[in-house]
Amino acid sequence: MAIVRVALPVATHQLFDYWLPAGLAVEPGSVLVVRLGRRRMHGVAVEVVESSEVAPERLMPVDEVLSDLPPLPSDLRELASFVSTYYQEPIGLCLAHMLPPLAQDNGGRAPLARAYRLTLTGHATFANNTTKKGTALGKAISMLSAAEGVATDELRKQGANVWRAFGKWRREGSVEAVVEAIVNGAPSPVPALNPDQQTALDAAVVEVFAFRPSLLQGVTGSGKTEVYLAAAARVIDAGRQALLLVPEINLTPQLEQRIAAALPAVRVAALHSRLGAAERRTRWLAAARGEIQLLVGTRLAVFTPLPRLGLIVVDEEHDASFKQQDAVRYHARDVAIFRAQLRGVPIVLGSATPSLESYAQAKRGRYRWLKLPKRATANSALPAVHLVPTRDQGNIEGIGPALQRAIAARIAKHEQSLLFINRRGFAPSLLCAACGWKAMCPRCSARLVVHRDDAMLRCHHCGHAAALPAACPDCGNQDLLPLGFGTQRLERALNELFPGARVLRVDRDSTRRKGSFAIMRDAIEAGEVDILVGTQMLAKGHDFPRMTLVGVLGADNALYSAEFRATERLFALLEQVAGRAGRGALAGQVLLQTDFPDHPLYRALIGHDYDRYAEALLAERQSLGLPPFAHLALLAAEAKTRGSMMSFLDAAAERGRAVIAAHACRCELYPPVPAGLARRAGMERGQVLVQSNDRRSLQAFLPLWRAELEQLGQRRVRWSIDVDPLSFA
Ligand code: ADP
Ligand code: ZN
Ligand code: ZN
Repeated sequence: MAIVRVALPVATHQLFDYWLPAGLAVEPGSVLVVRLGRRRMHGVAVEVVESSEVAPERLMPVDEVLSDLPPLPSDLRELASFVSTYYQEPIGLCLAHMLPPLAQDNGGRAPLARAYRLTLTGHATFANNTTKKGTALGKAISMLSAAEGVATDELRKQGANVWRAFGKWRREGSVEAVVEAIVNGAPSPVPALNPDQQTALDAAVVEVFAFRPSLLQGVTGSGKTEVYLAAAARVIDAGRQALLLVPEINLTPQLEQRIAAALPAVRVAALHSRLGAAERRTRWLAAARGEIQLLVGTRLAVFTPLPRLGLIVVDEEHDASFKQQDAVRYHARDVAIFRAQLRGVPIVLGSATPSLESYAQAKRGRYRWLKLPKRATANSALPAVHLVPTRDQGNIEGIGPALQRAIAARIAKHEQSLLFINRRGFAPSLLCAACGWKAMCPRCSARLVVHRDDAMLRCHHCGHAAALPAACPDCGNQDLLPLGFGTQRLERALNELFPGARVLRVDRDSTRRKGSFAIMRDAIEAGEVDILVGTQMLAKGHDFPRMTLVGVLGADNALYSAEFRATERLFALLEQVAGRAGRGALAGQVLLQTDFPDHPLYRALIGHDYDRYAEALLAERQSLGLPPFAHLALLAAEAKTRGSMMSFLDAAAERGRAVIAAHACRCELYPPVPAGLARRAGMERGQVLVQSNDRRSLQAFLPLWRAELEQLGQRRVRWSIDVDPLSFA
């Protein structure tokens, strides 16, 4: 009897055995349906064997083998096994994470794109179909055959028959959404690479069959994107596929438009979690069939099957959104490096402010270090950064006189200003001046944020919301003080300071409705906005040619944060925000309000000298024994009561020390402590940090420790291990 060993998406590292009924064919990587207890679930076949340790009468059969999904290729299974081992995540969850959405019938319900065209499969299906000529269906098919596709509205006009057939074609993957730009964009001319870019390109992609990691360190606007696209073109010309990973927030229509303009003949697809399930599935299948030549996507795209992979690019490689923080905890940049190595292809990591991990690798010579020190366009320089005092006479609602004057000057010249503050809401806390009461979240150890828009207090950690009180709940005092500043407060202040100016606020609250961000971006581009107020949503990937002033407020908050990467991130964020200024022909200026003008971070920022700051940070990390000089893993636990959480962590730490002693692991295990946010959504949180100077020692320790933790059998405690945590505060 053939036995299939199946990985299921459940929180265990073991495989499950099923017997294979006659007539079903399974190979490693096949996606199947099986029963586990009462549940039917999808699993991935890992191997087919002759016998099982489970008694035959207790074995269940494989119910179904999905025939419309190709088996996961071996390189992806190997990648899953790497992710499972390295990140201590169950193999079944890792494999499940790589599959496209499996639901069959939601094609019709996924949001419609503006235009569609035939996929390569669609072309093949309809190629010899002459019978439909002259009919409405035939006409629809020929409209869909055009490279630029056909507008969805136009298809809808072709009648109910066509519309129904179209629904079926969407579900079966015969048609795909057309990247918006192809429909309504006038392609802009693509510049020829300058010598720096050409040198970088030639060094990064020498041949398409060898693992070759490069760090492309280029200031904002230096033309990194052009290098990525030229590199992609090079491998595509050689018949290969390219994968471009971008941070969540960078996958903008602007980027898709640029790609469409630069590579008009290339089949490009975007892959991200906001797509409907059917669309994701269609694109996944097209990538797996080798039809997609350039796949652009967020972190999850790193797991897409690409049979002819020839290049991986990770844009803004330092960005924290590449780290998935729940379900399967992995870092897409690091997985991408492993995948490039596995497949023997070049990989380019690009950033203006590389992560210290990548920076250190480049310094050690492990990555080729490629630099673009200047902005690419002839008349565009990096913006001048000036530090101005926060507490200055004439400061109105946090906006100092220097910034007020600068904004007024921009308004007079019909140029745009951006005020950046990384905090949404009106004010980060509410205080009673009479008795000292503070508005705290009942479920978290955190203050509630004042939201003026809808007169609410909101918790930014758990989403708890309550009406803004009219009086202090403790003493009845009606004089409640909102403390600190958020985007809403700045918006109000700007409206009062500059009554004629058009102020637009862009943050998660103002862009909640789907598509609203796109509308805002169009308004900014069309010059219908004078002053923008926003959070880091605005920091990245946008190119507004009339934006000549960036004001930064509240940056000091991150300077003395307990999180060890806080300043590294602050520098990256500020450099990126500063990079919004003066991207066109007009010179840009940055005014940063601070109480600490001598801080080394700001001194380096003035010179746009990341190297200087990176070197200082590296020295600090080395002396503190922190990454990239040491390797970390964090056991995080949460429970309803502090007692059960801490007793779990105490036991965990004890077991960990025993493992270290028994196996002579070169790891250090720190005592359990409450998390930086000690309570969230009603759960008490704590952690144990493990540190090692030797990655292999840590990797050897973790599975042994995890096995011990699983034996602790604490049902009331939720725990997880985070390998290479971004923070442990
Ligand atoms: P980055 O990705 O490094 O921020 P981009 O690739 O977005 O930089 O380039 C910034 C701007 O410079 C874009 O408007 C781009 O069209 C332009 N640009 C890039 N390379 C060149 C070049 N070789 N010559 C002229 N303009 C260029
Ligand atoms: Zn009070
Ligand atoms: Zn809360």
